[in-house]
Amino acid sequence: MTNPDVVVIGGGIIGCCCAYYLAKQRLKVAIVEKGSICSEASKSCQGHLFLWELPAINIKLAKASKKLYEQLYNELDIDFELRNTGSMSIAEKPQDLETLQQTLNELRQAGVECQMLSAKEFIKTEPNVTRDISGGASFPEDGQLNPLLTTIALTQAVKKLGADIRHFTEVTGIELSADKSSIVAVETTKGKIGTKYVINAAGAWSGQIGRMVGINIPVVPRRGNLIVTEQVPDNIINCQIIIASGYLDSLKRENKTAVAANVQQTREGNLLLGSSREFAGFDKNVNPEVISLIVKRCIRFFPVLADLHTIRSWAGLRPYSPDMLPIISSSPIEGFYVASGHEGVGITMGPITGKLITQLITKQQLDLPVDQLSVERFAEKQ
Ligand SMILES: Cc1cc2nc3c(=O)[nH]c(=O)nc-3n(C[C@H](O)[C@H](O)[C@H](O)COP(=O)(O)OP(=O)(O)OC[C@H]3O[C@@H](n4cnc5c(N)ncnc54)[C@H](O)[C@@H]3O)c2cc1C
Repeated sequence: MTNPDVVVIGGGIIGCCCAYYLAKQRLKVAIVEKGSICSEASKSCQGHLFLWELPAINIKLAKASKKLYEQLYNELDIDFELRNTGSMSIAEKPQDLETLQQTLNELRQAGVECQMLSAKEFIKTEPNVTRDISGGASFPEDGQLNPLLTTIALTQAVKKLGADIRHFTEVTGIELSADKSSIVAVETTKGKIGTKYVINAAGAWSGQIGRMVGINIPVVPRRGNLIVTEQVPDNIINCQIIIASGYLDSLKRENKTAVAANVQQTREGNLLLGSSREFAGFDKNVNPEVISLIVKRCIRFFPVLADLHTIRSWAGLRPYSPDMLPIISSSPIEGFYVASGHEGVGITMGPITGKLITQLITKQQLDLPVDQLSVERFAEKQ
């Protein structure tokens, strides 16, 4: 393909979802990826479809996205392990239970199905949890998938729809029209690609792409470490996703380094132990102190985990936007769109992001209003 209609920069979940919905509208699409497809955050994560991250707009996006995943599960050729698992949150101390109760009140107003659990009720569902908890909550609408398989399934589908995937091709610049109002071409390490539309889906690197056209995108990397265990029976934890209620607190910016127990079991049986948040630039090295803290916190709630073998650990870079809202947006430059800043919910929000970007480009009615998600909210801080 010489002159695609759209160049998608970044072959993570967000870029691949954008490419899929665009290609379905019969646009000629090229994905340009500096590494291989799904080689950054989208392969370094857990697969929780997290439907209870406030504010309300995030919940609307997450719910719409989950519905789209259900459609994709029928449309795509690869089984990407989509499951309705629900999730549970553990309150460690009495004050955590109070905070959780307040959060649930807000979540219910935002339309989230959720239920408080006493310690006794929690232990009845999860016999391996320590007796030393104050209670918790359950979120039956949450789900899970395999992010790597999902991204690969999307890539295979976009190829079938005629899209061009350029691996190991780094975008180094963007050529604008003489009056700098529109897109002319994308410059890469493997030559120039003429196009009218560019989607910046470069995850933690999307600020660098923004600078190529003079648009402020204050997305920065927020590192997360994960540990994977051997495969275990599915009765070590009964609900496949269990998170300490302190997780919500760990999302806050002022926490330079934050760790909260987050135990998830994949369909294959391995446990993924997380989660952590650190601002460490683009450094993807595993932080041994953080790994140790994650393990301690997970064992604190599930002592049985101490007997398991771990296979490996790794770190990935979440694309963090300063107000913890994604950017799903057109821009002052005609043809330049931004799909980034999803932090810890990029897997959750992939399909709705791809669909909204497609609707913006093709000028169709939007499934959800995106004004709050515009990149222009950062313009005055440029
Ligand atoms: C430990 C951890 C756990 C997580 N758990 C969950 C979870 O359970 N649920 C959930 O919803 N989310 C989770 N997330 C968040 C999720 O992984 C991210 O929000 C999501 O993967 C971001 O997708 P992306 O496509 O924007 O970024 P990425 O997957 O990072 O993709 C961006 C791509 O752009 C490419 N790129 C960058 N610059 C250029 C350039 N100049 N030229 C060409 N290509 C370029 C990169 O190589 C990269 O492949 C987790 C993240 C981490 C780190």
